[in-house]
Amino acid sequence: MKTIGYAAQSSDSPLAPFPFERRALQAGDVAMEILYCGVCHSDLHYARNDWGFTQYPAVPGHEIVGRVTAVGPDVTRHKVGDHVAVGCLVDACMECDQCEKGEEQLCRHGSTGTYGGFEPVVGTPTRGGYSKHIVVREEFVLRVPDALDIAKAAPLLCAGITTYSPLRTWGVKEGTRVGVIGLGGLGHMAVKLASAMGAHVTVLSRSDTKRADAVALGADGLLVSSDAGAMAGAVNSLDLIIDTVPVEHDIQPYLPLLDVDGTLVLVGQIGPVGTLNSVPLLMARRRVSGSPIGGIAETQEMLDFCAEKGVLPDVEMIRMDEINQAYDRLIKADVRYRFVIDMASLQAA
Ligand code: NAP
Ligand code: ZN
Repeated sequence: MKTIGYAAQSSDSPLAPFPFERRALQAGDVAMEILYCGVCHSDLHYARNDWGFTQYPAVPGHEIVGRVTAVGPDVTRHKVGDHVAVGCLVDACMECDQCEKGEEQLCRHGSTGTYGGFEPVVGTPTRGGYSKHIVVREEFVLRVPDALDIAKAAPLLCAGITTYSPLRTWGVKEGTRVGVIGLGGLGHMAVKLASAMGAHVTVLSRSDTKRADAVALGADGLLVSSDAGAMAGAVNSLDLIIDTVPVEHDIQPYLPLLDVDGTLVLVGQIGPVGTLNSVPLLMARRRVSGSPIGGIAETQEMLDFCAEKGVLPDVEMIRMDEINQAYDRLIKADVRYRFVIDMASLQAA
């Protein structure tokens, strides 16, 4: 199927229109017209080859909401006209113990990313949601509950599940004390979701400028991470910290904020995070962990949870041709709190 997207041709070229082919519909596939696509900081990392494995031309985008246009003969879960969604994964082996548990993101054979991987059927590079159409096997296509505004729901597919999954894994419930480092796309979803779970939420931001926003999003307070006095006053005050900072940074100052048995979960930076001094870990059995996105069943659970609780991201809608300015603003943390591309602004080839 012919389609058109926006691609980076190299690590330093701006994204620009790029016509390409989607694979032909297989028996178990769903074809969809993409209506909205969120802009994740991972898209920018990928377009600029920050992780060193980008395949150019690179079409980013893994927060996809659209409408089903065709289904293969074996498809049972979705039908033409349904509002559906695709997140960061489009395939996995579906046979290993992790896939059997619904943790396809931890597939023993490696799951296939919506971009940056290889199409299992045809072997060509996977290309993401900055495009008019996509074809995905039905197991990786989510239902968008009617109660969710489809123009705002897209960021749930990555920012939502990446923060929901660790909140669930670490058993956040009424009264759990949750800290969120970095109030961006992931961070603001962590605040909304943890708050909807009944947690007591503290934002850890580099400055005071987002304090009113943090409270409006559902946080109980904001700590300025560069304020040594405020940080010292918050020792032992948190059960769980979700760290969304997208670049290398020192995690040491945050560890004393955890209470006994507390955990800091890295979901942002992929790579070094400063030098680790074990003293605060040993002295209070504190832990440092990481967490990658989430499985398909948990992603559906998160969408249903958001529909039930009325949780939606704060979005700024942009046109496809505004993506390069949006990336510049993302680098400056100048987004409140997720860009979403209106795909109607990209005309089909
Ligand atoms: P984002 O919208 O740009 O937000 C990141 C926030 O981190 C900023 O708003 C800012 O908050 C803080 N920050 C930015 N630069 C910083 C710096 N130099 N030092 C300290 N803090 C800084 O990014 P995002 O879309 O939420 O993504 C965050 C990271 O998560 C990215 O690296 C992305 O690749 C990664 N990610 C991981 C997964 C996963 O599966 N684990 C999934 C999706 C994304 P303040 O202004 O409040 O300080
Ligand atoms: Zn993402």
